[in-house]
Amino acid sequence: MTKLRLVLGDQLNAAHPWFRQPDPDAVVIMMEVRSETDSVVHHAQKVLAIFAAMRAFARALRSAGHRVHYLRIGDAENRQAFGANLDWLAARYRARALERMEADEWRVERLLEEAAAQLGLPTIVVDAAHFVCARAPLAEAFAQRVPRLEIFYRDLRRRHRILLDEQGKPVGGRWNFDAENRARWPGTPPAPAWPWAATDLSSLWQEILAAGVRTLGSPSAEALAWPLTRAQARAGLRAFVEQALPSFGRFQDAMSWDEPLLFHSALSFALNTKMLHPREVIDAALHAFAAGRIDIAACEGFVRQILGWREYIRGVYWGRMPDYARINALAAHRPLPRWYWSGETGMACLRAAIGQSLRLAYAHHIQRLMLTGNFALLAGCDPDAVDAWYLGIYIDAFEWVEMPNTRGMSLYADGGLVASKPYAASASYIGRQSDYCKRCRYDPRRRHGASACPFNALYWAFLVRHETELGANPRMAMPYRSWQRLGEDEREATLGHARTLLDRLDDL
Ligand SMILES: Cc1cc2nc3c(=O)[nH]c(=O)nc-3n(C[C@H](O)[C@H](O)[C@H](O)COP(=O)(O)OP(=O)(O)OC[C@H]3O[C@@H](n4cnc5c(N)ncnc54)[C@H](O)[C@@H]3O)c2cc1C
Ligand code: SF4
Repeated sequence: MTKLRLVLGDQLNAAHPWFRQPDPDAVVIMMEVRSETDSVVHHAQKVLAIFAAMRAFARALRSAGHRVHYLRIGDAENRQAFGANLDWLAARYRARALERMEADEWRVERLLEEAAAQLGLPTIVVDAAHFVCARAPLAEAFAQRVPRLEIFYRDLRRRHRILLDEQGKPVGGRWNFDAENRARWPGTPPAPAWPWAATDLSSLWQEILAAGVRTLGSPSAEALAWPLTRAQARAGLRAFVEQALPSFGRFQDAMSWDEPLLFHSALSFALNTKMLHPREVIDAALHAFAAGRIDIAACEGFVRQILGWREYIRGVYWGRMPDYARINALAAHRPLPRWYWSGETGMACLRAAIGQSLRLAYAHHIQRLMLTGNFALLAGCDPDAVDAWYLGIYIDAFEWVEMPNTRGMSLYADGGLVASKPYAASASYIGRQSDYCKRCRYDPRRRHGASACPFNALYWAFLVRHETELGANPRMAMPYRSWQRLGEDEREATLGHARTLLDRLDDL
């Protein structure tokens, strides 16, 4: 009895139980489809890297003895949608059943449910065998109540006995080393080189172009230096642990004009496509700590990102969808400024972060949160537009992880489910954490006037605009007090300047 086993582009998990040994009754189905390339405009490198990694995965499965039917984007028989392709493949193989893994994205899960219903075959949905927390209980818990990250993370540390001593107490005497992890990078130690060499994908790029797929950003084969196989992903993990992890915690919040990656791992693409398992990444860090190669602040800071934030964000997504995709608690409706698609702005920090994103399909967390996200928050940009931008531009962007980070953490559009206060900041934060301001035409110390840094007036105007929603939040008491301490003339001039800025965002 032939069964079709569907593997999506973000399900490249060689350790999945399906692949332990070849099953003569199973045909693994993989497809490059326009319904996915066109769901938003994606970065050229994201489309390239996902297709190249899918093709490499299919080759590896075939050489391990699995039967694989792979549909390329330009194949004549490709119907360019999951449902239509499954229909004719089921007929072609006289399939009696469909098996698929849980999809990570709500939209894709619905598409696959519809496709299966149309197919009319018995369908089995299995776990993707990737995350630390199983989806159904996680979603159920988060649907009832979204816990604070710290509570959720400590609970997972206890349950999985990670960084605990024999008495069950946190190693190092504390659960959280964030206070040690906020240094500005002074230029030393030198940041490690980008972990991967470039792969020439020019012929794949020609196929994508010939199929008419619209993309953004640079497709440059020289710049396409992302892991496309599990072996490359593992090599990147090893390089990260040896070279970058010792300084990861300390410079986690730092930003640099010259170094796009600093001491971050760039492992999110390999993790989100499931080439790497989160537990093996965590274990690599724990191993380095046990061997005395990294200190507790670096180890805990990194483990928190994967065991804590990544699982937590997934809980918010699956617990709160589909309503989460529509919430807009701060009623923000402005379009994103045009330069989000070109990087051509006089603001050096945003020029660096957006330019780098267009070039590499990557920006690290603080660039996403405190530069592009912070600006969109302060300017009151529409969460739908901001979501689409983040979902398109980053190589690691899949809706389950992109959306709660964008709408929740960055834009406060969920009214505080993810963040206990908005991540809103003026130039003083950006100046403290980076070297951008010295290359900027704006003055980070000024609140108004033509040369004043736009972040400053927009920051204060944001607080004033949202006093109803934020004024009672105890974590916002200090900024509101500081605002009151400014003289009335200063407040008027600042708000007047913010109005001018909001009228001409495209020109900044
Ligand atoms: C507005 C915004 C949008 C984002 N969109 C995405 C996205 O589409 N896809 C995505 O994977 N991450 C997203 N993030 C989270 C985070 O910025 C990226 O995971 C990280 O920058 C990836 O780079 P890295 O692998 O070098 O991470 P590192 O700094 O090396 O961190 C290690 C790993 O921890 C995990 N991680 C860290 N922070 C988070 C977080 N907040 N949420 C989930 N996982 C986290 C990632 O898997 C990451 O690879 C977003 C953050 C913001 C503020
Ligand atoms: S002055 Fe303002 S706009 Fe310019 S780099 Fe600094 S924070 Fe960014």
